[in-house]
Amino acid sequence: MRILGVLLLFSIACGAALDDATRQLSHDIFRELIEINTTDSSGSTTLAADAMAKRLKDAGFPAADVQVLGPMANKGNMVARLRGTGTRKPILIIGHLDVVEARREDWTTDPFRFVEKDGYFYGRGTQDMKVDDAILVTTFIRFRREGYRPDRDLILALTADEEGGQSNGVDWLLKNHRDLVDAGFVLNADAGGVTTAKGKPVNVDVEATEKQYADFELTSLNPGGHSSLPTPDNAIYHLSDALSRLEKAAFPVELNQVTRAYFERRAPLENAQTKADMNAILHTPPDAAAVARLSSDPRYNATLRTTCVATRLTAGHANNALPQTAQAIVNCRILPGHSPAETRLELIRIFNDPKVTVRYIGAIGGSGHEEDSKGFPTVLPSPEVLGALEKVAAELWPGAPVIPDMETGASDSIYTVAAGMPSYGINGIAIDQDDVRAHGKDERVRVSAYFEGVDFYYRFLKSLTTGR
Ligand SMILES: [Zn+2]
Repeated sequence: MRILGVLLLFSIACGAALDDATRQLSHDIFRELIEINTTDSSGSTTLAADAMAKRLKDAGFPAADVQVLGPMANKGNMVARLRGTGTRKPILIIGHLDVVEARREDWTTDPFRFVEKDGYFYGRGTQDMKVDDAILVTTFIRFRREGYRPDRDLILALTADEEGGQSNGVDWLLKNHRDLVDAGFVLNADAGGVTTAKGKPVNVDVEATEKQYADFELTSLNPGGHSSLPTPDNAIYHLSDALSRLEKAAFPVELNQVTRAYFERRAPLENAQTKADMNAILHTPPDAAAVARLSSDPRYNATLRTTCVATRLTAGHANNALPQTAQAIVNCRILPGHSPAETRLELIRIFNDPKVTVRYIGAIGGSGHEEDSKGFPTVLPSPEVLGALEKVAAELWPGAPVIPDMETGASDSIYTVAAGMPSYGINGIAIDQDDVRAHGKDERVRVSAYFEGVDFYYRFLKSLTTGR
């Protein structure tokens, strides 16, 4: 009763379009998901997948259209299909069920309890990304109960091991059940979203491309010897010299269709200097002083160029011995259109030392791209997708422009894009730019932002599949 009372007051306060039954349903699904532990270490995505499958079947989805499947008992993925009129190829919507580890002692609240406090929902996954999973399941249930028939099938895949683990669900489904998830394009609710400042909408992001993740292992070998008789030829010095050259080297600036649109649309939201700089880098060649100023912001630096940074270091075997081995890991985030093989050659050129070998070792867990893969295409979202997003964004967050961006990290879209399906990161969750807590402690989402997100995906998918 208390919750309903609060919800009712809230809906009057902000004039949101959700009815109380939908609010209660979406609230309960969110709570259920947060309270099922889906970490790689001790959790199970199968429990969450089964719980969501049950809700969909209880709402009237035929059992044949809702499946839980996976390579291992605790790595289940849920795939559900809302049948449409079939006039176009299906849309696949993906979301990961797994969450990053969270320790009770690090948090103010229990990360695996759904806690409402001070206008926020707290719990692991309230930003990344059970919040979106709950919204998508709610949306599918609403469509089913209404008897809504979209102009094509909508497929929902809630999956395992995006954050870690060895059983990535999107990869596994594409390799083993392509027919279940084959689509014209993909919406990934793990990216995009609404950026707010103190709750006020600034812009709506749509992730249109991604950088490519690549780890390189640097090794310097040496015969070693007694540390009382040092020689200039030292494995640690070779390696540290190479790393300090990397520290001072910057990869060339390169814009693509997506990052150009990003800076063009971002500029009007910035202060005068940054606005001028963003406009200046759009010229050919880009203005060097403007590039330098923008590069001092890690976000813009990462958008302008490939980045490579030392992340791990090991060397030596005894305090009193010359090192026989020194090794480092350099993690690169490569611009679309360039390959790990190319980046490796560039690193070798920067290090300029034949005593340091450079080996591409892929991504965490060894699940990287081929060495010659050039990553994501850099095309803007189709007018169909961008149009529907702009329409609904204008209804819910008037005045906040839709800005295409390039993810500097990585998401499961890597697999769907590799499978030939254009993929866009879109969700309707508003998070303050200084309150990003994904993977961190006391992860939370505004209560009002959650219900807005529920409203958003319903409107957005309807707009996409009715053409209105
Ligand atoms: Zn995520």
